[in-house]
Amino acid sequence: MDCPACRKSLTLVSLNGLPVERCESCRGQWLSFAGFGQLVRGAEPTGEAIGGGSNPVELACPKCRQPMVPFNYAYDSGIFINRCHACDGIWLASGQLERIVRHRSGSPALRRLGDAWAKEIRSENRLQSARLWLRSRGLSTSVAVIYVLAAAVTGGLESVLYLALFLVWPLACIWFPDGMGNLVGITLGHGRPVITQRTPGDFVAIGGWILLLSPLAAVLFIYFAF
Ligand SMILES: [Zn+2]
Ligand SMILES: [Zn+2]
Repeated sequence: MDCPACRKSLTLVSLNGLPVERCESCRGQWLSFAGFGQLVRGAEPTGEAIGGGSNPVELACPKCRQPMVPFNYAYDSGIFINRCHACDGIWLASGQLERIVRHRSGSPALRRLGDAWAKEIRSENRLQSARLWLRSRGLSTSVAVIYVLAAAVTGGLESVLYLALFLVWPLACIWFPDGMGNLVGITLGHGRPVITQRTPGDFVAIGGWILLLSPLAAVLFIYFAF
C-alpha cells in the first residue's frame, strides 16, 4: 500500500501490539477502525509536539483508492481524521493520535489549571476556618469568663470591675472586627484623632486576641520568672 498523502510505500509496524501501516516520510498511519479504538483507549498523552492534521483533508483510501470521508473526531474535537467505510480503516495524519489522546484526557494545560484551582480552593478553605477561629465569640468569651472567675476568687468585686473595663476592648475587636476597623477619627485625650485609617477586620481581630491574652501572658511570665 502507498501513503495517501505522499505516495511513499507504507511499512507494517506494531504499535502497542496492533498492526499499523506507517508512512516513514510523513508519519501518517493506516489501521483498522477497531484497532484505532483500542489504540486511543490504551494511550496516554506523551507530551510530544503536535504537527498539523487539524483541517479536513480529502484523501484516497490506500487500500481501495476510493475517496475517504474526513470526519470530526468525537463530533467537536476539531480533529479531522479520514475513514474508509468500505475497508473499515482509519488514516491518521502525523500528530493526530496525540491530539485525540489529549482531547480525551483534557489538555495538559487545562489539567494543570484544574489542579492549581483545586489547591487554591483547599487553601481558601483553610484560610476561611482560620478566620472563623480568629473571630470566634465563644472562644473569646470563654477566656474572658476564666479571667472574671480568677479575678473574683483572688481580688473580689473591685478587680472584677476593672477587668470588665479592660475586657470590653479586646472582646469588641474580636466580636465586631469589621465595625471596629471602620471606627476612624477616635480621639484619645488631646483632641487629635489617633486612628485615621480604616483597619482590615482580620488585623483588628488579631489585635483583640493579643490584648485579650496579654494578662494571661503577663501572669505566666511572672509565674515562670519568679
Ligand atoms: Zn506519507
Ligand atoms: Zn478503502
